[in-house]
Amino acid sequence: MHVKDKDFRISIPEAQIREQVKRVAMEINRDYAGQEPVFLAVLNGAFIFAADLLREITLPCEISFVKMASYDGEHSTGKVRDLIGLDSNITDRPVIIIEDIVDTGLTMAHMLDTLRKQKPKSIDICTLLLKPDKLCVDIDVRYRCLEIPNDFIVGYGLDYNQQGRNTRDIYTLQS
Ligand code: 5GP
Repeated sequence: MHVKDKDFRISIPEAQIREQVKRVAMEINRDYAGQEPVFLAVLNGAFIFAADLLREITLPCEISFVKMASYDGEHSTGKVRDLIGLDSNITDRPVIIIEDIVDTGLTMAHMLDTLRKQKPKSIDICTLLLKPDKLCVDIDVRYRCLEIPNDFIVGYGLDYNQQGRNTRDIYTLQS
């Protein structure tokens, strides 16, 4: 696949994504039985993952879409912005963050700090993808669909310079 000036090859097919999203949704349904979690989906990258995950969730729940990450082209800029769009009251409530990818973990660490100020009952992170070798902060990523190497990926919501989000499979940058 060609996105802007780069070539990508398919690395995670749709069927494998679907299987892992269902597995994680079942874990959440089991672990949160009897609770009413507030899901916070992080835009833009998690929009497709959130839509697929939520349709497998059988719990009574709320969903809000928030925005925070800053990512420029292929490399994390290291800059983090403020959390915007949180329109749910999360005080004393169980919160589950839905993220597209945890890379260094800085975005999630900053988001956890921000949300904890509102004193939620609990917070868990649910990510589609995790790059374990890049993680450089001490955060607990409780729910993860797929672990991947340190390559740059696009598709299924994730972009390269704002393009390539609208694919069913996930692609890796060709070196
Ligand atoms: P972190 O703060 O964990 O280093 O970076 C998290 C954010 O960086 C993600 O929400 C995502 O927007 C972006 N990101 C990290 N790795 C990739 C990647 O391989 N592809 C794309 N498209 N975005 C990435």
